[in-house]
Amino acid sequence: MKILEAELIASAPRFDMLPPSGLPEIAFLGRSNVGKSSLLNALARRKKLARTSSTPGKTRELVLFRIRTDRGELGFVDLPGYGWAKVSRKEREGWGRLAEGYLANRAELKLAIVLQDLRRTWSEDESLLLEWLAERHVSGRIVLTKTDKLKLMKRKERIRALRSQIGEGFGKPIATSSQKGDGLDLVWRACFEHAFPSDAAVTDAVTEDTEGESALPDETS
Ligand code: GDP
Repeated sequence: MKILEAELIASAPRFDMLPPSGLPEIAFLGRSNVGKSSLLNALARRKKLARTSSTPGKTRELVLFRIRTDRGELGFVDLPGYGWAKVSRKEREGWGRLAEGYLANRAELKLAIVLQDLRRTWSEDESLLLEWLAERHVSGRIVLTKTDKLKLMKRKERIRALRSQIGEGFGKPIATSSQKGDGLDLVWRACFEHAFPSDAAVTDAVTEDTEGESALPDETS
């Protein structure tokens, strides 16, 4: 699969200010620092498409990217990162209005990708988020990030533990490393499956691997 173009087309401080894209949209959400911008950049194969946490002046807004591939065009939406413990109640409510407003109302939304750092515990916040999405019939998929940060045995152990804790209500959580590129083909496959559900040829062409084990190299490697 080739990325032909990737560009920022709009950003908005309120969900109802985001212009319609006319594209099937994939939303990305997770705690601050989970690796969301890095994943967006790795998927789009661009170094600086999404602004990473280290970028000064990163604000809380919805950011919409247009990603044109040789197999179709999609919108990627970067939802602001959250981190309940660290923000004030007012900010938390602001996040809710922005992200929940988008997730509950956006006609173009096809899939919400919820990111989870492989090294962190799956908390009540994330469980509530999945329940909230399910109640609103929003399709979701969990992506585990930064697999390269753990040594192989520990990595396998954490992937197994998180998969069993999270369950497969939203499909098998996909293990990824934006730095090494592991699992990105599976994330793309999930995006295509939801963006173009009737086009089996497109999704089959992305990858044949349906097991989600690509981030789990053999013991020998
Ligand atoms: P965001 O706040 O969710 O957008 O997170 P960023 O993409 O800015 O990443 C937060 C930090 O984690 C940065 O220092 C990244 O370099 C690092 N990071 C993100 N993804 C990976 C990964 O796959 N592997 C490693 N080793 N570090 C990562």
